[in-house]
Amino acid sequence: TVGSRTVPSSSSSGAARLLPLARWIPLPRSPTRKTPAKVISFLAAVLHKKGTREDIENNMPEFLLRSIKKATPASAPKKMFLIVAPLSVLYNWKDELETWGYFKVIILHGNKKDNGLIRLKQRKCEIVLTTYETLRLCLHELNSLEWSAVIVDEAHRIKNPKARVTEVMRALKCSVHIGLTGTILQNNMKELWCVMDWAVPGLLGSRSYFKKQFSDPVEHGQRHTATKRELATGRKAMRRLAEKMSGWFLRRTKTLIKDQLPKKEDRMVYCSLTEFQKAVYQTVLDTEDVTVVLESSQPCTCGSGRKRRSCCHKTNSYGETVKSLCLSYLTVLRKIANHVALLQVAGTSKNQETLTKRICDQVFSRFPDFVQKSKDAAFETLSDPKYSGKMKVLQQLLNHFRKTRDKVLLFSFSTKLLDVLQQYCMASGLDYRRLDGSTKSEDRLKIVKEFNNTQDVNICLVSTM
Ligand SMILES: [Zn+2]
Repeated sequence: TVGSRTVPSSSSSGAARLLPLARWIPLPRSPTRKTPAKVISFLAAVLHKKGTREDIENNMPEFLLRSIKKATPASAPKKMFLIVAPLSVLYNWKDELETWGYFKVIILHGNKKDNGLIRLKQRKCEIVLTTYETLRLCLHELNSLEWSAVIVDEAHRIKNPKARVTEVMRALKCSVHIGLTGTILQNNMKELWCVMDWAVPGLLGSRSYFKKQFSDPVEHGQRHTATKRELATGRKAMRRLAEKMSGWFLRRTKTLIKDQLPKKEDRMVYCSLTEFQKAVYQTVLDTEDVTVVLESSQPCTCGSGRKRRSCCHKTNSYGETVKSLCLSYLTVLRKIANHVALLQVAGTSKNQETLTKRICDQVFSRFPDFVQKSKDAAFETLSDPKYSGKMKVLQQLLNHFRKTRDKVLLFSFSTKLLDVLQQYCMASGLDYRRLDGSTKSEDRLKIVKEFNNTQDVNICLVSTM
């Protein structure tokens, strides 16, 4: 599903303006992590790399170089490039650079950044890798150096003109800006303007000019109520916009490399609830709160003719509104459908936590056995597939893939569920790896490599967050 984030983040301009622009403007869509390789080949070219031993020799310190090569070319001003990337892919960049060429790279991040700054002030490198955060912290120092180009990965972060990150990126002194993104920018004109104005300042004019000339006409033309004239003006504006940007965008879709990728097969497996889940689910449906929600559309008992939820039964006995109850209970039911253990996770807000506790108290009073097991911290018992229909299916799948020695990436939105799955792996003697938000960025690559290269490691648990 990479690259399918087509919903614009601003909802103010209506839903109708989603798709058409994509047809007109050849914007970048590079959903694979092939992007580093393309940037690296560009860097290799402009740094005159040859891909041979000579590159390594040329990377040696100046004095050594002079002893080897009698005639050192009159030292041309050395080019230096800055790559800004989210921390999550910083070491991936380093790894790719090492894979594809011989570059002198400095990582500017974390507690070693002062050391890095000293080295790069002496221009002892060709490529500096850093994060958005470190760039902000070291902006002054980085601005005192001359950069041949700055390459920004996940450039869609520069989408809000007022955001700190945009201010910092604008304040960085460099005349060549290259932005990479896998997000479809053209779905939101305001964001598109902001990213483009950073990459090629002034290309699309000022914000108000852009609004008047492009985004307003395009948006008006896409309304359901648009007149023929508005439609025509909108299309014209889109064409002009596409023309203006055509020299500055390189769009890469997956179809270009389709023949190089293995065939993909998507299968949806529906898993039914276990008896235990069904019992818990029913208990929740039977609660007073859910009854309040379910009856909320019925005519009120007072005979006013209005619906219960907008008359005498606006809230439950705790004063919680039907609307908030509805959302809370949808979440609760979804958790039960995944794994009952998820119910015991602390909610995101204080309110939710109180609610969850109340529900747990009500529900689990009927399942003392389950509660006792949770209390005993006998967490592994929770990883028993009998508590979750999905786990039952998963167990069979994993057994199958184990036999065929296939590698399995197991994703979950919930790290709590990953905990359960991890327990399951341990209990079943499966060698696994795990990646989530708490995995240190420098460890990530190691984990990925171990997963890819170790024969006995066949499962990697990954949090989608
Ligand atoms: Zn009433």
